[in-house]
This record gives sequence, C-alpha cells and structure tokens, in this order.
Amino acid sequence: MKIAILSREADSYSTSRLVEVGRARGHEVEVYDTLRFSLALESMTPQVWYRGQPFAPVDAIIPRIGASVTFFGTAVVRQFEQMGVFTLNPANAITASRDKLRAMQVLSRHDVGIPATMFVRDPRSVLPAIERLGGAPVVVKLLEGTQGIGVILAESLEVAQAVVETLQWAKQNVLIQRFVKESRGRDVRAIVVGGEVVAAMRRRSKGREFRSNLHRGGEAEPVRLSPEYERTALRATQIMGLRVAGVDMLESEDGPLVLEVNSSPGLEGIETSTGVDVATSILRHIEDEAPFLEVDVRQRLSLEQGYGVVEIVVRRGSAIEGVEVARTELDGGDSRILHIQRGLTVIPNPSGDVVLEAGDVLLCYGLRRRLRPYLARGR
Ligand code: ADP
Ligand code: MG
Repeated sequence: MKIAILSREADSYSTSRLVEVGRARGHEVEVYDTLRFSLALESMTPQVWYRGQPFAPVDAIIPRIGASVTFFGTAVVRQFEQMGVFTLNPANAITASRDKLRAMQVLSRHDVGIPATMFVRDPRSVLPAIERLGGAPVVVKLLEGTQGIGVILAESLEVAQAVVETLQWAKQNVLIQRFVKESRGRDVRAIVVGGEVVAAMRRRSKGREFRSNLHRGGEAEPVRLSPEYERTALRATQIMGLRVAGVDMLESEDGPLVLEVNSSPGLEGIETSTGVDVATSILRHIEDEAPFLEVDVRQRLSLEQGYGVVEIVVRRGSAIEGVEVARTELDGGDSRILHIQRGLTVIPNPSGDVVLEAGDVLLCYGLRRRLRPYLARGR
C-alpha cells in the first residue's frame, strides 16, 4: 500500500517507528509536513496539493496532528476523507478529542467515568462551581492544553478563583475539575488499536508534581489492566469515534475516570516501558481496515425524502417489549432494524425471532413518519 504520514516531525520517535515498520511490511511510506498541503475545493473532484503540486493518490493516511495545527490539520484529513482515502483516525473524531470540554461532553452521556467537571464563563459562577465540585483543591485546565501544560492544581478557593480569572482575562477558556487526590500523581494510559487494548502503562509523577505526563518528568512502568479499566478505555475510544487512541485514566476510589482521549498518542513512552510493538499493531490495523472507508450512515440514509435513521429505546411496559422483531412494524415493509444494542453487546441485523427486551436500543432505518411514534420524548 501507499501510506502517507501527516506529521510536522519526521524525525520524532513515533513517526520514525511507523515509517520503519511500514516499510518493513512492504508498504511505500512517506512523511509529509501537514502544513505544506493545500486543498482544492471543486465540485465532484476534491483534491490535495503538496508543495504546490497535485498530490499523487495514496491508499491510506496516518494523521499525527499536533495540538497547534488542529484546525488546518483536520481540514487536510477531511479532504482526504472526501477523496475516499482511508484515514487511521477520522477528522471529526480528532477535533472532538482535542478539545477537553467537547470530549467530556461527548463522554458524559455514556457509561464512562469522568472526573466531575464544570465549565464557567461568568466570574460570579466560579465560586458556586468550585463548591459543587466539593471545594478546593481543584484542577483548572485550558481546553486545548497538552503534555501537562495548562493543567494547574489550585490548592485554595482564592487561588482557584484568581487562576480562573487570570486565564479568562487572557482570553482562555478553562475547565474546573474535581482534584482526584487518591490518584496521587499517577495515571494509567491505555493504547487502543482497532477495538483492542494493545499496551498499557502507569505513569507516576516526580516529587511534588501532581501531573504524571512523561514530558513533565513522569516515569512509566507497564501495567496489566483490570477488565474494568480495559472496558473503559475501549468504550471511550469507540464513543469518540477513534480507531487508535491513547486513553488517560485516573485510578479513583470509584474506578477509572477518563481524563482525555489522545488521537495521536506518542509511541516512545509506551513502547520503551512495555516492550510492546505498538507501531506494528497500527500497521496491521491499517492493512485489515483500509478497504472499509468511513461512511456517514445518518447522512447517506437521509438522502431519500422522508427516510432517516433513528435510535429507538425499548421502554419497560411499552408495546414492543417482549415482542419478536418480525412482529413489530419496525422490521419489514419500509423499515429495518439495523442493529440492537443490548448492554455491552450488539446484535447486528437481528433475525425475526429475536425478542425485544426493555433497555434495548434499536438502530432503525425507515420512513420517519412511521418511526416517529416510537421515539421517546424528554430523553
Ligand atoms: P494533558 O492534555 O496536558 O496531558 P491531562 O488532563 O491529561 O492534560 O492532565 C495532565 C495530568 O495531570 C494527568 O496525566 C494527571 O496526572 C494530572 N491530572 C489531570 N487532571 C487531574 C485531576 N482532576 N485530578 C488529579 N490529577 C489530575
Ligand atoms: Mg494527558
């Protein structure tokens, strides 16, 4: 395959490893500076240019988009998507995971633990927010910080308030988060590739530092994840829509709390501390998945007037609870049940004799006006 790595750091450990492994596996792999692409927007024929020349087609891209170029970088990735090129992580998922607020918002409606977090703008809301989090100390974070920069521990109410005000004065948006004391400067990073945790490490901060980032002097050791941590890492990755991710979790008294989901996780720390060949897992995943391009199902399936995709929750005591799929009007005629999500499992293309249970979430496609009565209000 022809594989393009989009990175501003051709010599970094992560990029070099992906190049080395990709070539050893027989692929043509090149590194391209993300900022030297330009995008040609023309009807029917989206194109990319590189250094002023049309860019020869590739089979797959590996985006390694740094925090400072998120906007342009994700635009480049999206352009490749429009051209039908497989991308290791989709542009929208990179955007959503990059912004800590957006990521927390997406995760908070699912069964994934996150530290209690408040987002405030009005200075008068700062105190009530901190009280809601159980008082000082609290952690104050810039929305798009990385490598521990922009993460501050505010020991007292006064400090917390001053920090938030100062950052807001400097036109920065900040999150206020409960300080998870019991994690004691440690966190767990799990590397997920294609629905599997392939490696995990525990990071420990140095001295009095509470941030465990390796860039802040933290040290890493391999760790065996319990099923709960493993499930959380997989769910967080899946919810964010990423194929490859580094999921950071705090070890709290109530189990794993997801701090962030990194779409371009560094490989050096994880490979050297665990000895796992993460680069090879990534290349294998690309080889397996490249034929399966991302399809925006909701958009595609709404192209026909009046049709759409909806999620229907089977309520306890509702008319469809305990009924066989074939006996509902959701499957057959002009509607189909595409899949049923039941707890942690999914039943794809359910056959007619599957009995619907309370709590099932049905992904249905059909005439919207026919499906409408099944949609729960006030969810
Ligand atoms: P970054 O993107 O800069 O890595 P994180 O949100 O991952 O930002 O925070 C950096 C580090 O700070 C974490 O790895 C963790 O060690 C520590 N940390 C962050 N938030 C909390 C919190 N709410 N409670 C305790 N420690 C935290
Ligand atoms: Mg982090």
